[in-house]
Amino acid sequence: MDPKIVIIGAGVAGIAAARKLLERGFRNILVLEAENRIGGRIQTIPFGANVVDLGAQWCHGEGTNAVYQLARQYNLLQVAKVNYHRFDCIQSNGESVPTQLTDYLIVLIKGILKAAEVDFKNPNGISLGAYLSKRYAELLDDPKNSHIDREIASQFLEMYMKFECSYTAADSLSDISGFGYCTYLETEGNQHLSWKNKGFSTLLDILMGKYNGDTIGRLLKRRILLKKKVKKILWNAGENSKVLIKCENEDVIEADHVICTVSLGVLKECHKHLFSPELPLHNLRAIESLKLGTVNKLFLEFEKAFWPINWNGFNLLWSEEDLTRITQSKDRWLEDVFGFYPVDYQPNVLCGWILGENARYVESLPENEILDGLMFLLRKFLGWNVPCPLRFKPTKWYTNSNFRGSYSYFTLKAEQAGVTPADLARPVSRHSAALPVLLFAGEATHESYYSTVHGAIETGWREANRIASFYPARNKSHL
Ligand SMILES: Cc1cc2nc3c(=O)[nH]c(=O)nc-3n(C[C@H](O)[C@H](O)[C@H](O)COP(=O)(O)OP(=O)(O)OC[C@H]3O[C@@H](n4cnc5c(N)ncnc54)[C@H](O)[C@@H]3O)c2cc1C
Repeated sequence: MDPKIVIIGAGVAGIAAARKLLERGFRNILVLEAENRIGGRIQTIPFGANVVDLGAQWCHGEGTNAVYQLARQYNLLQVAKVNYHRFDCIQSNGESVPTQLTDYLIVLIKGILKAAEVDFKNPNGISLGAYLSKRYAELLDDPKNSHIDREIASQFLEMYMKFECSYTAADSLSDISGFGYCTYLETEGNQHLSWKNKGFSTLLDILMGKYNGDTIGRLLKRRILLKKKVKKILWNAGENSKVLIKCENEDVIEADHVICTVSLGVLKECHKHLFSPELPLHNLRAIESLKLGTVNKLFLEFEKAFWPINWNGFNLLWSEEDLTRITQSKDRWLEDVFGFYPVDYQPNVLCGWILGENARYVESLPENEILDGLMFLLRKFLGWNVPCPLRFKPTKWYTNSNFRGSYSYFTLKAEQAGVTPADLARPVSRHSAALPVLLFAGEATHESYYSTVHGAIETGWREANRIASFYPARNKSHL
């Protein structure tokens, strides 16, 4: 028997699942994708002198990292030129903060986060934000730190919390479970490997067999249907019946197994009408208590660079007075733009980053209004003669109903509910049979690499292998 397996979503988890099933000899596979392209939150577009990544940008780690393993034989990755852990900071009055001070403060913060690994071995109801703020204040009260300028130290912590939120995609570190934060594991090696002048979609080319011309890639391409948005999955129409998948164009597709890879944001918004009957309680509780946050990038292309060679960009430190003024103005969203950095292989492009509630809000603004705000920031903080850019490209991951955000994080609410990404990943079987009919993959279902591409890939493989484990090993030549 060659079971019919339908995969919903041609993001990297869906592609990885389909590829693994094909490698294991399954052929009756279909991937349904709502967008008119594959890749999901991996999206590389031409911009400036080269390309930019609207979504995933770096391979976070080497060693066993699935992205690294797939790319390494083609020599496609290199350490990013910008050092995101250098924290060159400028205050809102235009003064640069001495590197000696920022280096000192970052050592304090890194020490606290290291200690967190021990303090959060078990769930304890404390958020990462509360923990970090308390420990930081204690360290600053220590007489050996009396030389530190308290005002700058406090502005630095505010900035750092936003920076950390950009990694976790949380609106605020107070929303992140300290315990949950420590369940995220880094793969060993450099955390910022870039795709040189090519962009992250090169990974999709590898998975689609374009790099080695493999037959699996060709088989996979024929099985992906674009612009096929799924509106309903009837997973328990009867004891021995198939799963029915209804698409927005009214097509109905039958399947023995469905692997659903849509984002946590889509699940949150749609689960009530997407699944019939309703999902089991453990899946529901995970959908409700884990979160998909929003991080957006704001790309600015200038006629020529107005910054020095080898400039590392800067992080914004607001004085209390300036912050109050901006948060009381119509441009209050600007407080959550925490840094601007050059982009590799793009001599004239800067990328600003914004997160949280304001990242969602900014998506609703006209582009010229966003641009005016960004120019205000650059001129105010840098104090340089900043020319108007030639082109501007803001990302909009929240507004797009096929994503509803950027990446997932482990909330305090999830910790309190005793929920982990493993609950989201639990496959659904019909009452009397162990054979799973509805399975979940996607970054938010990975227990330790959630929020990443390598995590998403592993979840696709996991669910493909789960299905394969219910069938005898397949003789590929006969399929
Ligand atoms: C701004 C940003 C920066 C990031 N930076 C990094 C980074 O540097 N490194 C890193 O490792 N990760 C990064 N990530 C995270 C990474 O992109 C994701 O973790 C990963 O791509 C998720 O893959 P996925 O397959 O789980 O989900 P998705 O990519 O969301 O794929 C799900 C697919 O399902 C489709 N879909 C949704 N609803 C339906 C429906 N009803 N019917 C059919 N199809 C549907 C969607 O269109 C989508 O293609 C970043 C993400 C963003 C947004």
